[in-house]
Amino acid sequence: MSKLADVARVIERAQRVLICGHVTPDGDSLGSTLALGLTLEQLGKTVTLAGPDPVPEIYKFLPGVERFVTGPPPDGKFDTFIVLDCSTPERLGEGYRDLLHRDMVTVNIDHHIGSADFGEYRYVDPHAAAVGEIVFDLFGLMGVKISPEAAICLYIAIITDTGSFQYDNTTPGTHRRVAKLLEIGIPATPANIRVYEEKPRAFLRLLGAALNTLSESPCGRVCWMTITRDIILNAGAEDEHAEGLVNYTRRIKGVEVGLLFRETAAGSYKISFRSKYFVDVNKLAAIFGGGGHLRAAGCVIQGDLNKIRKEVVAAAIRATGGNNH
Ligand code: 5GP
Ligand code: MN
Repeated sequence: MSKLADVARVIERAQRVLICGHVTPDGDSLGSTLALGLTLEQLGKTVTLAGPDPVPEIYKFLPGVERFVTGPPPDGKFDTFIVLDCSTPERLGEGYRDLLHRDMVTVNIDHHIGSADFGEYRYVDPHAAAVGEIVFDLFGLMGVKISPEAAICLYIAIITDTGSFQYDNTTPGTHRRVAKLLEIGIPATPANIRVYEEKPRAFLRLLGAALNTLSESPCGRVCWMTITRDIILNAGAEDEHAEGLVNYTRRIKGVEVGLLFRETAAGSYKISFRSKYFVDVNKLAAIFGGGGHLRAAGCVIQGDLNKIRKEVVAAAIRATGGNNH
């Protein structure tokens, strides 16, 4: 693994930079990408920000977001490819992971446990609550002043990946960095309102429909919800409105593992895993080919919903130390 200082030197030398986050981008992926992009541009570099999937509506207020190129990888000659918040090359998405084999310097900055070994320069810190924290430190090592625009992007990266400082990935260092961002004078409250308090009505309809599917294991330690294509369609919702819904599954007293089964396309299911105190959901998701963090992870499985649900719920119950009852 590279030192973050070496990554800083490589980035300083870059001229034409492509920066990408992961598929179905979240606040950390977008916020880190934008903060780095805006700052490198300020240093006179030519920057392209790209990804396969559209930017969710709730993040469209972020400075520079209109610069995102979505869809297939953009044409252009880049000397440096920076990958943020991707635990595997696959998380870059179709078409994008092939860019790792092009003739350019590749830099991988991530914070997932067991993050795959890829990229010529690779810096992974599983103790970082968000990639936004690492990008913040990178700016320090580069000696660049963080603009208010980049600061708000880093702030969103950190609050979304820590559940607004609720999750146990939150450290004193998280608060110290955020204190520095607040000192820059960012509009933190309006930003929180944009992300959490301006949902479309379809979001609440989807939440209602999802809550109607809430099921609990007899032991009470595992709880899950299911969102099919029909449910999304009937709610008049979009896939992006499912972000965060999984958290409702662990809100009940006694529940250790919460699961959300979401049909992404016919026969294809995205499963989100969350835990509260002790289950390592990174390991649990890994049984099904996924991964993530200790208390938040995900995977994608193809097949029959009932069969998938049965297997995943049974594995979750086992992980809580119970049997299937
Ligand atoms: P979410 O459930 O919010 O989509 O994702 C939670 C965490 O699990 C994130 O840190 C994300 O990186 C990881 N994750 C989500 N889906 C997948 C997946 O399909 N594969 C892997 N390896 N990780 C995932
Ligand atoms: Mn992240």
